[in-house]
Amino acid sequence: MIITGEALIGGVAVKGTGAALRGYNPSLQQPMEPEFHAVDFEQIDQACRLADAAFDKFRALSDEQRAVFLETIGEQIMALGDVLVERVMAESGLPRPRIEGERGRTIGQLKLFANLLREGSWNDVRIDKALPERAPPRPDLRMRMIGLGPVAVFAASNFPLAFSVAGGDTASALAAGCPVVLKAHSAHPGTSELVGRAVVKAVELCGLPVGVFSLLTGSGNGIGQELVRHPAIKAVGFTGSRSGGMALMAVAAARPVPIPVYAEMSSINPVFLMPRALAARAEEIAAGFAGSLVLGVGQMCTNPGLVIGVGGPDLDRFANAAAQALAGGAACAMLSPGIAGSFQRGITHLAEHADVKTLALAPQAEGKGAPALFVTSGAAFLSQHALSEEVFGPASLLVACKDIAELHQVAESLEGQLTATLQLDDGDLDLAHALLSVLERKAGRILANGFPTGVEVCSAMVHGGPFPSTSDGRSTSVGTGAIVRFLRPVSYQNLSQALLPEVLRDNGAATWRRREGELTRG
Ligand code: NAP
Repeated sequence: MIITGEALIGGVAVKGTGAALRGYNPSLQQPMEPEFHAVDFEQIDQACRLADAAFDKFRALSDEQRAVFLETIGEQIMALGDVLVERVMAESGLPRPRIEGERGRTIGQLKLFANLLREGSWNDVRIDKALPERAPPRPDLRMRMIGLGPVAVFAASNFPLAFSVAGGDTASALAAGCPVVLKAHSAHPGTSELVGRAVVKAVELCGLPVGVFSLLTGSGNGIGQELVRHPAIKAVGFTGSRSGGMALMAVAAARPVPIPVYAEMSSINPVFLMPRALAARAEEIAAGFAGSLVLGVGQMCTNPGLVIGVGGPDLDRFANAAAQALAGGAACAMLSPGIAGSFQRGITHLAEHADVKTLALAPQAEGKGAPALFVTSGAAFLSQHALSEEVFGPASLLVACKDIAELHQVAESLEGQLTATLQLDDGDLDLAHALLSVLERKAGRILANGFPTGVEVCSAMVHGGPFPSTSDGRSTSVGTGAIVRFLRPVSYQNLSQALLPEVLRDNGAATWRRREGELTRG
C-alpha cells in the first residue's frame, strides 16, 4: 500500500489544505516522503458530522457484528505486512522486534474487545421487575449501558501502534459503539495513514456507515482543540504531555456542553526498595531496574523514573550496581526531536542541580537519549517539587531517605502515578503493608518484585491513576475496563417487551444479567 499523504474523512482520502508536514526519521535525522497537510476546520467539521450521522446505526449493531468489525481491523493491519513495520521503524527509531511485538499487542487488544462484546458483560444489564403488590408498587426497571457518541482520539507518540490509530482508545470506543475521529500524531503520519486505511477497509468490508472512522492529519494545537470543541464529539481519549492533556481538558470544560477527557499524561512510577530485599539482593534489583529503565529508550509511560530507599551501605550497593549497568549505555534515537530535546533539558537540569548528584551519565548525542541516574536526599526531594517532574526518557532519580519515616513522607508527597512498585522480602511485610495503604491512594497499579514497564492487556489491568498520571483516576486506558470510559447507563421504566432493547427483554439472547441484584448468565 502506498502512503499518499492524505487524511481519511468518512472513507474518502483527501488532502488537508493547511500547513505542510512530513514524517521524520529520527535514526537518520531526515525528513520523510510524502508531504502531508493539516486538515482545515471544514474538514474537521465534516469528519465530526459524519461520525454523528453514523452513531445510531453503529451502536445498533449486534455485539457479534461489532466484534467481527474489530477482528477485521486486526486482519487488515496484518495484511499491511512489512510495509507497515518498516514505516513504523523509520518514523519512531524503534527496532523491528519491538514494532512486531507492538503490532501483535494491537491486534490482541482488538480481539480482547471482540471477546468482551461476545461475552456481553459490558452491557451491565440490571433487571428489577415490577412489584405491583408492594406498597407503594415498584415499577419495572431495566438498565443497560450505551455508547456516549463520537469520540475524539489523540494518537500517542510513544506507541505508534498500540496507543495510536487502532490502539486501545480506538478499540474501546468502537467496542462501545462510538464512532472515532482520530487526530494522527505529527511524529508518525505515514504509520497513521497506513493503519487508518486498514480501519477504513474494515468499515467497508463490514458494510458500516462511512462516518464510523475518520483520520485527521496535521500538526498544531488548533486541530486538536477544534476537534474537542465540536458539538458532535462526546468524549476524548488522549495520551501525551501534561500540558497537552490539560489544554484539551480546559477546552472540553469550556464547551457549552462539557465532555469527559480521558487523558493519560505524566507519571514517574516510583520503585520502593524495602530494607530486607535491598540487603539480600541489591545487585539483582539494580540489574532489573536498569533493564526496565532503558526499555524503548525510556519512552514508556511506566518508566521507573524514581527509586526510593533508606540511605546506607545496601542502598549504596544498589546505586553502584545500577550506575555501572547504565553508565556504558548507548545513546539511541528518541521518537522525535522535540522529545529528545526535552529529555536533554531534563537531565541537564538534574545534573546541574545543587542538591542532586550524578551517579551515571552515559555519553549523550543530538536527537538521542542515553541512560542517566541521579541521587538526592529525602529532605531535598520533599522540599522541591521540580525534582518530582517527569523526565521522559532513560533517566531516573534515586531518593536516599534518612529513615523509614522519611520514606513514608516521600510516598505521601507523591502526585498520582500509573504504577508504584515494592521490592520486598518476607521480612519487609509489615513495612510494605503500611506503605500499601498510601500507595493505593497514589497509583493505579501496585507491583511486587517486578518492574513497571510491560503492561499486560487483560481484564484485571489498570493503566490509569490519580491526577496527573491521568485526568480521571476512575478509569483505565488498557484492558477491558477501558470500555467503561465511553459508556453511560440508561434505565428503562415500564417499557413493554416490544419496546425494550433486545438485551433487556425477558427472552433476550443469553448474556450476563443482574436480576433482582443477583448476577447470572442466561
Ligand atoms: P504532546 O505534545 O502532548 O502531543 C500529543 C498530541 O496532542 C499530538 O497530537 C499533539 O499535536 C496534540 N497536542 C499537544 N498539545 C496540544 C494542545 N495544547 N492543544 C491541542 N492539541 C495538542 O505529546 P508528545 O508529542 O507525545 O510528547 C511530548 C511529551 O509528552 C514528552 O516529552 C513526554 O514528556 C510526554 N509524554 C508522556 C507520555 C506518558 O504516557 N506519560 C507519553 C507520551 C509523551 P501535534 O501532533 O501537532 O504535536
